[in-house]
Amino acid sequence: KQFGRNNYQFCSHNVKLDKAEAFVSFEDNVQRAIRNNEFYLVYQPKFNLSTKRVEAAEALIRWAHPTKGLVVPNDFIARAEENDLIIPITQWVLEQVGKQIKEWQVAGFKDIPISVNISPNHFEKGTLVEDVLTMIEKTGINPKSLIIEMTERTMVHDVEKTIETIKQLKEIGLKMAIDDFGTGYSSLSYLMKLQVDILKLDKSFVQELTDQKNASLVHSIVSLAHHLNLCVVAEGIETEDQYNILKQYGCDSGQGYFFSKPLMSDQLERVFLSKI
Ligand code: C2E
Ligand code: CA
Ligand code: CA
Ligand code: CA
Repeated sequence: KQFGRNNYQFCSHNVKLDKAEAFVSFEDNVQRAIRNNEFYLVYQPKFNLSTKRVEAAEALIRWAHPTKGLVVPNDFIARAEENDLIIPITQWVLEQVGKQIKEWQVAGFKDIPISVNISPNHFEKGTLVEDVLTMIEKTGINPKSLIIEMTERTMVHDVEKTIETIKQLKEIGLKMAIDDFGTGYSSLSYLMKLQVDILKLDKSFVQELTDQKNASLVHSIVSLAHHLNLCVVAEGIETEDQYNILKQYGCDSGQGYFFSKPLMSDQLERVFLSKI
């Protein structure tokens, strides 16, 4: 026991070294991934619940790692957020999405807006508006073709800054969505202050529609959102029952395995996009 303190110091020193090493290699890994195009995007279509037609799609990142194989976002996004590597990653995502929208436009497909997920620290660092503008200038796409998805976590970070950034993005002509709605804090009070267009109901609500209390809550959220002039998108619809209930509640659109998994861009194009 008398060596406890020394032992602890010895350990903490090692831990620090490990962390430093891990940090350098993760950063190098990500930088290399961007350079070598190891990242790619899949697109999950969003369906209008009344017409069952595709009206938008969400871009979701994947990492084809040279030794680890396919790495999903839940295994690297949080870590990339911790050290702001998420910003170069998102710049890459924005650029790809811009190119893709342009490509579909040139090929004569009917325009559907594509959403991009944006992390809280990207809002905070203040480069988001610039990054979006740069992408629009480079590709010449219509800003209406782009939706920014942000989570409630963003508002908790810095409300004033978030409100201001949303205002600027809306002035450019983008649409704004609140992602994973219902999983964060103070959802309702923030919802009134922010100029968002779309509310994405988190999939945890959709998965528990058999629970009567939860179902009532979902119904109320849809009504409230409509009173605030927001469009409601339900995430994670996996069954026909869930689809029917949400449609009955007046939910506008939906995303989920019941309709389609996220797809490679050429698959989305073949199966779901229509020519003008
Ligand atoms: P999210 O934005 O909530 O995206 C929806 C996630 O649910 C996606 O997982 C999608 O594949 C999955 N999903 C779709 N339909 C269903 C369904 O019917 N059932 C279930 N159980 N899941 C479904 P994915 O692609 O693994 O992404 C996970 C999270 O990683 C995303 O959650 C988002 O927060 C983050 N993410 C993904 N791509 C990006 C990105 O480019 N940038 C940032 N910052 N975050 C990203
Ligand atoms: Ca999302
Ligand atoms: Ca979500
Ligand atoms: Ca989620």
